[in-house]
Amino acid sequence: MAVYADLILYNGKVYTVDKDKSWAEAVAVAGGDILFVGANEEAKAYEGEQTKVIDLEGRMVLPGFFDSHAHVSMGGAEALFTVDLNDCESQQEAADAVKKFLDDKPDAEVITGVGWGNAIGTGIGPRKEILDEIAPHVPVCLYSEDHHSLWVNSKALELAGITNETENPKGGVIERDPATGEASGTLRESAMNLVTNHIPEYTVEQYKKGILAYQKMAAACGITSVHEPFMRNGNALDAYNELEKEGKLTIRFRNSLFVDPEKGIDQVEELVAEREKHSQGTYFQTNSAKFFIDGVVEGATAYLEEPYEHIDSHGELVWDPESYKETAARLHKERFTIHIHSIGDASTRIALDGLEYAEEQDEPFDSRHAITHLQLVNPEDIGRMKKLNVVAVPNPYWFMKEPNYYFDIEEPYLGKERAERQYPMQSLIDAGIIAASASDYPVTMNFHPLNGIQLGVTRLEPGKTDEDLISNPGERTSLANMIESFTINGAYSLKLDHLTGSIEKGKKADLIVLDQNLFEMPEGKINQAKVLLTLFEGKEVYREEEAISVSS
Ligand SMILES: [Zn+2]
Repeated sequence: MAVYADLILYNGKVYTVDKDKSWAEAVAVAGGDILFVGANEEAKAYEGEQTKVIDLEGRMVLPGFFDSHAHVSMGGAEALFTVDLNDCESQQEAADAVKKFLDDKPDAEVITGVGWGNAIGTGIGPRKEILDEIAPHVPVCLYSEDHHSLWVNSKALELAGITNETENPKGGVIERDPATGEASGTLRESAMNLVTNHIPEYTVEQYKKGILAYQKMAAACGITSVHEPFMRNGNALDAYNELEKEGKLTIRFRNSLFVDPEKGIDQVEELVAEREKHSQGTYFQTNSAKFFIDGVVEGATAYLEEPYEHIDSHGELVWDPESYKETAARLHKERFTIHIHSIGDASTRIALDGLEYAEEQDEPFDSRHAITHLQLVNPEDIGRMKKLNVVAVPNPYWFMKEPNYYFDIEEPYLGKERAERQYPMQSLIDAGIIAASASDYPVTMNFHPLNGIQLGVTRLEPGKTDEDLISNPGERTSLANMIESFTINGAYSLKLDHLTGSIEKGKKADLIVLDQNLFEMPEGKINQAKVLLTLFEGKEVYREEEAISVSS
């Protein structure tokens, strides 16, 4: 009996991202799977009476993109329910945005916002007084765009019980006025929890709305699989489970559970039980565990081998290294994939020490542990990453000398020499490490993978041509490598490579159509290509109707 396809795409430039990097003309889809990939002529054999047909007229087809680290539930809810500070260029502008929010919602019991750039308050960060002026009566808590700092007013400090006597919590900093010693309004890393523990979390409904809004944006960018790191919130987990049951997920989510540095090894059983609860979903599962080892350069909390240039500090370790090692080893034994936030070179060394220790305690298994961000890496540790088979999850969206960040923060904080060797990519690939790219949305608001791909190739701010602005030029990589990092390598890192990540017979029909062939475009214009069609398991989740017509 002949098997007919539900849909056949003809006349495409299909870049399959299979082992041989082969190209094809046609793809046939049946029951959500890829039935055939190859020549137009042969695809005809799968065309039955019910088969729908798309003539691609020479357009490019790629596997659906992965985002290997995106805070979907948090970012989605924030975008809908908090003050947006992303365009504010000064503390005053941010305060004005808060005031406008308060004018619209005078009964708000707490005001949260997100998105201020660290350049609006270098050093000890933005100050509480400017917020006190507009909101003396209600707590205001504003996350920086990287979510590693929280700018608060006096009412929020009061709510948290922070006084002049309050010491910095482990792995955190309460910024203080250098003259008076008084908390000045910015909290870093774990010190943020002193306030946020008192702030009501988003409801399940709010999270669901946020996830659905994200899915819509992501489908238009060709994203079909995502890893959301650090789920620690019952409501967000419930939101995913409900959306799965309601059949509303159009992205395959493989998320991580947050590993709390306060609880150490004692929480492993809890995490195992939590994972069990989400192990049956088709599109939503939590198979990995997320550690934060350090903070970020812009908060001077990334943990560095050599001290910062502007202050006498190496940064902050979020975990006690011994406790991290033991906890990681236990999670490894429980067959969690471990996903580690590490920015500083000293932090990455500690991260690897723990993974090495975990391997030594156990028989070998296909762990695919990952380290993400990797802003500064000691070259010796690149070899260790390869040896331990650690996946790199870099953020190519940050591979540039960003006007505010690079010259106002990275160069003065790290010194010229270190700033010049940030964000390795090609040297990871040369070492044989699998690199799976990620946006870290909402840290990167414009998370379109074509942006990330372009930046990985050029390492230059889009629109710029000045060669001096290329960030760490030796780390530029090829377009083919960047495409892999957003497709098959993402699948590998989430243990989905048997299922998707390339266009091969038997895999899920996660496919996208682009208006142009990326290999024929100037490097600096890759992000101007457009996604015209996104299929998730053969189902259309995005289509530009004027550009792509389906006939039967
Ligand atoms: Zn992140």
